[in-house]
Amino acid sequence: MFDFDAFVIGSGPAGTIIAAALSERGLRVGGMTARQLRQVWPNTYGIWQDELEALGLKELLGHCWENCGSYFGRDRVDHHRGYGLFDKVKLQNYLLAKCEAGGVVWQQGKAKSIEHESHRSIVTTTEGEMISARVVIDASGHEPMFVKRQAQGAIAYQTAYGIVGHFSAPPVDPQQFVFMDFRSEHLSETERANEPPTFLYAGDFGEDVYFVEETSLAMSPPLSFEFLERRLHNRLAARGISVTAVHEVERVIFPMTLPLPDLHQPIVAFGGAASMVHPASGYLVGALLRRAPGLAEVIATALKDPQAETAAIARVAWQELWNPDRLRKYYLYRFGLEKLMRFDEVLLKQHFDTFFSLPQSQWAGFLADGLSTPELLAAMVRLFATAPNSLRWGLMQFPGWEGNLLWQFLSLQSARASEPMASKSL
Ligand SMILES: Cc1cc2nc3c(=O)[nH]c(=O)nc-3n(C[C@H](O)[C@H](O)[C@H](O)COP(=O)(O)OP(=O)(O)OC[C@H]3O[C@@H](n4cnc5c(N)ncnc54)[C@H](O)[C@@H]3O)c2cc1C
Repeated sequence: MFDFDAFVIGSGPAGTIIAAALSERGLRVGGMTARQLRQVWPNTYGIWQDELEALGLKELLGHCWENCGSYFGRDRVDHHRGYGLFDKVKLQNYLLAKCEAGGVVWQQGKAKSIEHESHRSIVTTTEGEMISARVVIDASGHEPMFVKRQAQGAIAYQTAYGIVGHFSAPPVDPQQFVFMDFRSEHLSETERANEPPTFLYAGDFGEDVYFVEETSLAMSPPLSFEFLERRLHNRLAARGISVTAVHEVERVIFPMTLPLPDLHQPIVAFGGAASMVHPASGYLVGALLRRAPGLAEVIATALKDPQAETAAIARVAWQELWNPDRLRKYYLYRFGLEKLMRFDEVLLKQHFDTFFSLPQSQWAGFLADGLSTPELLAAMVRLFATAPNSLRWGLMQFPGWEGNLLWQFLSLQSARASEPMASKSL
């Protein structure tokens, strides 16, 4: 039987990032990959350029646009901030090289079952092989193999239908990235009134190649790819543009409102499996790169005690991943998204127009989950204060689940207020 300090299930972004971080701390790390380890990841990942600069990883960008803007009305809103798409091969190779340097032992196969003993967990593969580790990290994606989550109702999904290719005329201006184009003149009055709002996410790849993606921020049930594809072609056709050659089609679907994991289980998770997708923006990869060192450090420290029980190691890891501040913010983001999902197109455009008029530190911090709870609240209050009256009125309505989310946030906030001073300073 193989035996490791830490065993990671999954070799997507989360699995490779956490395996690399754990091995960098001198741990004996094993990993299980259901696909060929070097098979290129299927998704394209976007990120704001300064987030990668802060990590010293700007060279991992494949495409980068200094010129990034949005349309919430007729005029372009310039974000004064560079945006990029990862070169996913570079990102994957960079992480696998770190894993190799740290001696991570990857095995190809599928984890099938897990048993927890007091001082180790034992994973059995579909081939019947057994792997033992003092702690197991489930990084098997949004529908995790082993991690249990709290019960919750319907989940909202982000969906998008995208094309990379040649067009009869440029779908975006040269060297531009359009983050959100909510213009909808191509839709009829009935469509605008009765159908869900979607936006275009698009960029100029150079050499006459463009990327266009019709996106639904979040819906439950999710918008279908057929609907988004039709919307995309309508949008282009209204501007007299047709697709002349398709290099790649991307169909995006991932959950935005995953319930929180059970924070008392004897297995840890990372990435989609740990419900780490930002519940209001959908971003994940930047957060994985920022947060893996902290999680790896906590696990490495816990493992220094040879008597530490598996459940105790997992507990400190969950506390690191979902500490009280993060839990509070989770409910605030979920509250925010719930509002957006109820807004019609007019309110949604007003919302984003107001949001991107906030100081950049506030909107950027919101999107990357880089604000503390008080900072996040300050950004939300400022948005409310600067919003037009119609949007303010929309924000004050609580027709559904958002009241519940706000209540969960307030309960955590009041629990914090009643904590003794000593534990506050921890
Ligand atoms: C099309 C698309 C576009 C996205 N775009 C962005 C973006 O621009 N920016 C961003 O930040 N986020 C984006 N996301 C969201 C999120 O970053 C991705 O979903 C990301 O891939 C999640 O990473 P992960 O490693 O947690 O899971 P995954 O990438 O799903 O990786 C999980 C891995 O575990 C393996 N696995 C599963 N079960 C087992 C098992 N039993 N045994 C062994 N291995 C197993 C799978 O084969 C897979 O390789 C996007 C998502 C999608 C789907």
